[in-house]
Parts: sequence; structure tokens; C-alpha cells
Amino acid sequence: MSVAWITLVGVLGALIGSFGNVVVHRWPLGLSVVRPRSRCPRCERTLGPLDLVPIVSWLVLRARCRSCGAPISARYPLVEGAMALGFVVLAIAYPVERAGLSVVPLLVLFAMLLMAALIDFDTYLLPDALTLPALAIALLGAFVYDPALGLPTPREALFGAAVAAGVLVLINRIGALVLRRFADTGERLWPLSLDTVNVAALAGALGGLLAALVAGALQTVASAALRRPLRLHEGALYALWVAALIAVAAGAGRLWGVGPIEALGGSVAGAGAFALLGAIWWWVADWRGGAGSQQVVTDATTKPEDDDGEPVAMGFGDVKLAGVLGAMLGWEAFLVALLYAVVLGAVVGVTARALGGSRFVPFGPFLVIGAFLALASADALLAWYLGLLGL
Ligand SMILES: [Zn+2]
Repeated sequence: MSVAWITLVGVLGALIGSFGNVVVHRWPLGLSVVRPRSRCPRCERTLGPLDLVPIVSWLVLRARCRSCGAPISARYPLVEGAMALGFVVLAIAYPVERAGLSVVPLLVLFAMLLMAALIDFDTYLLPDALTLPALAIALLGAFVYDPALGLPTPREALFGAAVAAGVLVLINRIGALVLRRFADTGERLWPLSLDTVNVAALAGALGGLLAALVAGALQTVASAALRRPLRLHEGALYALWVAALIAVAAGAGRLWGVGPIEALGGSVAGAGAFALLGAIWWWVADWRGGAGSQQVVTDATTKPEDDDGEPVAMGFGDVKLAGVLGAMLGWEAFLVALLYAVVLGAVVGVTARALGGSRFVPFGPFLVIGAFLALASADALLAWYLGLLGL
């Protein structure tokens, strides 16, 4: 293994971590991440190259500003260290000699996901401008991976993104429905919206993935033609969804040739596909100055409060983040990641409450941690599970 390569990647990680600190601080405030140069928040002296050496400057300056002595948070060197460590671990796990450039998309994703997790931790928001480009990188990365590594193929990445986003969007919809005591949403977006997701979920539960995609496409076209959302009452729709899944699980699907796994998988992947397409649609529409329509989507669902001011389990930002992770891991390892995230989130949430903190804990950081734990352990876990089944 080339020590020079790993050192280079580690130093690169520390430098990107340093830039990441700037991104995490400024992006949520709507400031440029390039200009002006960083300065001390108290004495406003512009920081020179000697103040900006990752980790080292903080240690040498003993966590204080060179000119005014204002304390510098330990978070800066910690983020730089975490980025460097992640980069080094990935460079060792995917050695360039054997795996070629497979590690490059993973390094880019690690950097983007660490920044996204920190922004979510600080603000409860996951910026689309970070998650949606990361989704593109995770999908394109699948074309670069060495097939021997067990990373997803392009097809598996696409399916993984849809399943992962689908799991989270269905938890989001059903969670919100329970919190509203099964009243309908006030959402009135078209052509692509949560109504499209709901219709695709129901059609998938009856007929599998192809049915979900066709139904979602028809709902989109019909909504565009009507210039209003074509919708079913959400409570009624999910009652039908549960009934359809039970009927297919009981064997009724044999009448029209659909098995239970196909129905559940098709429902989840179809719902997730339209959730991600909708996210991309509204992001692009907002970019082109689409009258703040994006706000309608994100504000209603990414904040820890629903329409009635009640906390929701997961926001829509987590749906997009899950899409990235599903594309990076494939659907099987994504489910392992989700399991890690739920367990870690519960432990941290309960601990925080026990220590007197009433702070809402965002789910995104746990999903990101779970994803990299799953990347490290999914093969071992799967082998253990298959061994348990005697396969
Ligand atoms: Zn200062």
C-alpha cells in the first residue's frame, strides 16, 4: 500500500474539512462560501495562511485568536480531523492499486455528506443544493466502481435510491397522517407532488414497480393538464394501500400475477422514485424563479414541525438524503444503515432528554453515520445473516 498516496489523501481531507467548516457556517446564512476570506469574528482581522493550517493552527494558537485572544471553537479542528480520518479510512479500504478510481466518488460523497450532516445538526435543514448534486454523484459513481468491490452497479444504485427514498417518504407520509389524526393534507402542489408519491405507492402495492411508475406518470400528466393536483384523500388512500398489501400478502395477487415482495418493493421504490423526481423538479423550478414554490415543499416538511405545529418523525430533507445513501450503498446495505441510524438516534435522543436537553434531534446526521457504518459492515452482516439461515 502506498504511504504517499494515503498521506496525500489525508492532507486533502484535512484541507477539505477546513473548507467544510466555512461551508457549514456560511451556507445556511445564504453567504458566499468563497468570499470574503475568513476572519476573526471578534477583532475582524483577516486570517492569514498560518492561521488556516488545518488542526495544526488551532493547536499552535492554543484555541485562541492570534491578535485578540478570542477563543476558537474545538469544532473546527474536530471537523478537519474527522474529514481527514474518513478520507484515510476510505483510501485504505479501497486501495487505488487494486480498486483504481473507485474511491474517488466515495471521497466526494463523504465530504458532501459530512457537511450536510453538520448543517442538519445546526439548522435542521438539509440544503437541496448539497443533497441533489450528491445524488447525481452517487448515481454516476456506480459507473466508476470496480465490480469486485461489492459496491452497487448503476442499476442497483438507481433502484437503491428509489427504495431508500421510498422507505423514508412512506414513513414521513404515514407519520404525518397519524399526527394529523388522519385528516387530509393542505398540500396543493402540481404537477409533481406528494399526491404523485401517494398514487404511485398505492398502484405499486397492487401491481408492483411498473404499475407504480405508470400510475405516477399518469397522475403527473393529468395534474399538468388539469392545472391542479389530481388527488385522493390521503387517509383513504393509505387505508387502501394497507388493504392492498394485506390482500397481496394473503395470496390475492396470484389472480393478476403479483407476489408480496414484488408489491411491497414496487410500492416503496415507486413512491421513492416520484419523491426524488419531485424534489428535483421543485429544485429546478425554484432555481428558475418559480415563485418560491420550493418553499411550500420544504418548509412544510423539513422543519421539525408539521402544519399543526406537531413534531414529525422525519422531514422531506431526510427523504432526499436517503436517496443519496441508497444510491451509494444499494438497497440492502441502506436498510442496514437505517437500522444503525434508528438505534443510534434513539440512544442519543433518550440520553439527551435524560440530561435535561429538550432539543429536537435531527435524523440526518444519524443516517450519514449509519451509512458509513453500513459501508464498513454490510457484507459481514449479510454473510452472518445468510449463515444463520444456513445459506
Ligand atoms: Zn481576533
